[in-house]
Amino acid sequence: MSELLTVEEHRARVLDAVTPLPVETVRLADAAGRTLAAPVRAAHDLPGFDNSSMDGFAVRLADVEGADAENPVALRVVADLPAGSSDDPSFGAGEAVRIMTGAPVPTHADAIVPFEDTAGGLADSLGTVEVRRAPAASGAFIRRRGGDTRTGDVVLTPGERLGPFAVAAAAAAGVADVEVRRRPRVAVVSTGSELVPPGVAPGRGQTPDSNSTLLAALVADADADVTVVSSLRDDADAIHALLAHAADVDVIVFSGGVSAGAYEPVRQALSERISFVKVAMQPGKPQAFGALDDGRLVFGLPGNPVSVAVSFEVFVRPALLALQGRAVIDRRIARLTASEDWTTPPGRRQYLPAAIDLVAGTVRPATAGGSGSHLAASLARAEAFAVIPADVSTVSAGDPLDVMLIP
Ligand code: AMP
Ligand code: MG
Repeated sequence: MSELLTVEEHRARVLDAVTPLPVETVRLADAAGRTLAAPVRAAHDLPGFDNSSMDGFAVRLADVEGADAENPVALRVVADLPAGSSDDPSFGAGEAVRIMTGAPVPTHADAIVPFEDTAGGLADSLGTVEVRRAPAASGAFIRRRGGDTRTGDVVLTPGERLGPFAVAAAAAAGVADVEVRRRPRVAVVSTGSELVPPGVAPGRGQTPDSNSTLLAALVADADADVTVVSSLRDDADAIHALLAHAADVDVIVFSGGVSAGAYEPVRQALSERISFVKVAMQPGKPQAFGALDDGRLVFGLPGNPVSVAVSFEVFVRPALLALQGRAVIDRRIARLTASEDWTTPPGRRQYLPAAIDLVAGTVRPATAGGSGSHLAASLARAEAFAVIPADVSTVSAGDPLDVMLIP
């Protein structure tokens, strides 16, 4: 019981308990933030046809070879191709077709002359055009069919998060429905008889419940749905009632009530059903986790707000992403140089709320005066967590550090 688990050991127990949620098909318009469960393949070539990358004139290269300002070449303009036209006008030697960006290149053209390389503007060019600069080569300013992707090519792979770029890629590839994992449904539950709702002036002995707000925002940020938000008094019966109420969730995240004090309702209510452990980290040493018989995953995080934030990053967020089948469940790590000295607890890995300067490549504590895990308001200054190995006891300016980036 008093033995410390490493962060990796506890994390492995958490992730071992995760089974990805079922797959469902959603319209692309509803897919942003979801995790892909099957590859997205291009339904057609993209571009679907050779098209012009400039407003100008489709020409036969042989007609305009050698053209320059001193030796312009006049061509007769015999057709006009706006974007959206499906025409394929034929044209002969000494002729050209006016063409707009994105319009299909006529079969008999082998280059585009941008209108900037002709005399006169586009407006009065339906007659004769004077080419004042020859295209550099065959294919100049032509975007080739399939140059982006080809029919059947994998555009997006399972496990990818469908961010704005990804949903746009699916749309461009002609895909309207995608297979994704169901979003996890999550209950966030604060415990503590001292808690009052935000906006209520705390009396002596009371403190605002910031963890509910913190956890609800973190869960949403992990692309999961917060379906229950609750704040309970330190009373084991209230925990049992909550468990009955939140029957329809995949995950319950408690804050507070898991450590060794006299009033620890999560521990009292659940000590037979989930494990209560100590993890070699700071903050976040007391942790509770387990799967209930009905499959719901239960996290019990220590109540200090910074401990909640760190525990969420290290254990809960990876689990929520693994439930969605996400291929990458870890935050990005940057290697930055400490710009200040500070001490860290021996034998425990420190996750220090940090301010970073990505241009200078430096990291420093987000709050002067150390790493108090109760500094709920100062947490707002953190942009990252500096991760200090357990066997390090002092950080000195100039030391290289791994830093977990929180976007
Ligand atoms: P606990 O883990 O329950 O012993 O709580 C540790 C510390 O975190 C105590 O000072 C609590 O008042 C504080 N705390 C617990 N829950 C919350 C919460 N929801 N919001 C803000 N502070 C909290
Ligand atoms: Mg408490």
